[in-house]
Amino acid sequence: MVIVNDGKLLNWQEIHKNLEQLRSKSLDQLMKIYNKYKDIQNDPFKWGDEIEYSIVRFDHEAKKVQLLLKSEKFFDHIAKLKEKYLDENDDLSKVDFHAEYTSYIIETIPSKPNDDNLNKFDCVQENMKLRRQIIQKFLDENEYVIPLTCFPQLGCSNFTYPSHNPVDSDQRTKYDSYYYSNDIIMKRALFKSATCNKIDRKQSLPHVYVPVYKDKNTLDPFKEDNLNDKCRDDFIHLDHDGFAMGCCCIQATFQAESLEQACHLYDQLTPIAPVVLALSASSPVWKGYLADMDCRWNVLKQAFDDRSREELGLEPLNKSRFILRRSRFDTTDVYLSEEGSKYNLAQYDRDDSVYERLTNEGMSPELAEHFASMFTRDPYAVLEEDLNNFDEDFVGNFDMLNSTNWRLLRFKPPPFSSAESENRIGWRVEFRPTELQLTDFHNAAFATFIILLTKTILKFNLNFLIDTIRLDENMTRASRRNAYQNEKFYFRVNVENSFGEEAQVEELSANEIINGNSKFKGLVPLVKEYLNQQELNTEARDKLDKYLSLFEQRACGKLLTTAAYIRKFINEHPKYNHDSKISDEINYDLMWRLYQISNNDIECPELIV
Ligand code: ADP
Ligand code: MG
Ligand code: MG
Ligand code: MG
Repeated sequence: MVIVNDGKLLNWQEIHKNLEQLRSKSLDQLMKIYNKYKDIQNDPFKWGDEIEYSIVRFDHEAKKVQLLLKSEKFFDHIAKLKEKYLDENDDLSKVDFHAEYTSYIIETIPSKPNDDNLNKFDCVQENMKLRRQIIQKFLDENEYVIPLTCFPQLGCSNFTYPSHNPVDSDQRTKYDSYYYSNDIIMKRALFKSATCNKIDRKQSLPHVYVPVYKDKNTLDPFKEDNLNDKCRDDFIHLDHDGFAMGCCCIQATFQAESLEQACHLYDQLTPIAPVVLALSASSPVWKGYLADMDCRWNVLKQAFDDRSREELGLEPLNKSRFILRRSRFDTTDVYLSEEGSKYNLAQYDRDDSVYERLTNEGMSPELAEHFASMFTRDPYAVLEEDLNNFDEDFVGNFDMLNSTNWRLLRFKPPPFSSAESENRIGWRVEFRPTELQLTDFHNAAFATFIILLTKTILKFNLNFLIDTIRLDENMTRASRRNAYQNEKFYFRVNVENSFGEEAQVEELSANEIINGNSKFKGLVPLVKEYLNQQELNTEARDKLDKYLSLFEQRACGKLLTTAAYIRKFINEHPKYNHDSKISDEINYDLMWRLYQISNNDIECPELIV
């Protein structure tokens, strides 16, 4: 979500008064985009990744590491550099940096999307390295950039530098968390207003409960060290958007050749998402405690849940329009293709009037269903100038709604005013579940794998569709501790030329899904079959095979996930008391090790082939 703008964000009361108008404007804008671009065909395949980096500061004497609030300064620095040197500095022209919710995160992308020339795929890893290096060059002594999904001491006392402790209890307002100060939110952007609007809409802070990992010396029942009335036995309590938007991930976005192909690929990659989440797991510690889960997904699902008591069905509908059965951030509820829609078996909610209007105006029933589900949600980030902007080419109200509703993948319609040239941006799909990996190699491998799989799906007409009830269940399983080794996932095994056939679904381990078994060839063997048919130079093929081998070896347990590695490190740390608590010193040692791995300063055979 990018809400960086000089404008004024409306407060929730102002948005609430204008909801009808906002909805109708967003719908008009969606239809404008749809009608303008629905028939485009043969757009070239393009793709790119997004990585969010954390910046940290080590105090080696005190053995303390903190998240460093310095991204505003970094953006000033980059703006100046780009102004002065862009022509001469080829490196700078290859990358872009985006502001994120907090001042310790910097989002980075390649400045131009990649094409699908497999011989050039090594530029992906190179570009990631370059982005990291540019940030690192800006930092001072003892300050480092690290690709981290979740800082283990997020929300502990003094977890940022400079320190911003939460508001004292006698001064706390309804907008104040017990753990996470609003001063950590990126100042220049409008994120803070959005966070407050969400609280006003829900009439509560977000409350997230992460199950604690019960180690041999963990109290039973487990209680947090600093208790308050919202804490619950056996859970780690979090209560701020910063625990969600202050996490990082890696996303891959590709452009399909047409609307139909974008819908098809959105559907086909959806059932793959849980196993990729499990294999990429890297967030086992929350607020200084070891958790009994390895991924960020369920934290974001709870933190972004903006449903009011009425929408949750706890009070009769009065101010709200619907009872809503899903969080605003949740597993995919609606497939987009005709074939996919047969598998929409889990319950979801939709705005019937939106569905009617969209289908009456020519949108496919499947896509209309997707947007009718999205339009049950209110916008909670609206710029004053956007409320009354009726310009012909303005689609900002729709864009904001689309980018503040989260499913496993995001369906990205073309920007309305995209250039009419080879740079025109078409129908895109963003793959979103992947947790951030420690090295450029791992991150490039995950981004590349999704793209290779996309090409393989198209080449062999593969069909991975399973129903959304089992998809929900797979997501629950994928987040569990060591899911990549311990869990089984519902998976379709009749994937080749099986459109129109009933799904034959088995429960498979990540290893069987990646490497195959007697009933299913396996994702990596399928991708290799695709690669065998491509004209590839040896060097490129070697590189791609190394990426695939990461998946082969992680899935079979020869290599660890980052989460498993972090657990192992903590477990073996001499100061760890096996009580689920991660002290300043353990965190310091852990973060130093993770930094060294990310910078390739040390070898790590548990993680790298
Ligand atoms: P958002 O934050 O809305 O998801 P970003 O601008 O941060 O979007 O990232 C967009 C990603 O999509 C980048 O990796 C970029 O390289 C890639 N990209 C840009 N244009 C295209 C395109 N036409 N087709 C596919 N990918 C694209
Ligand atoms: Mg982005
Ligand atoms: Mg981002
Ligand atoms: Mg994105």
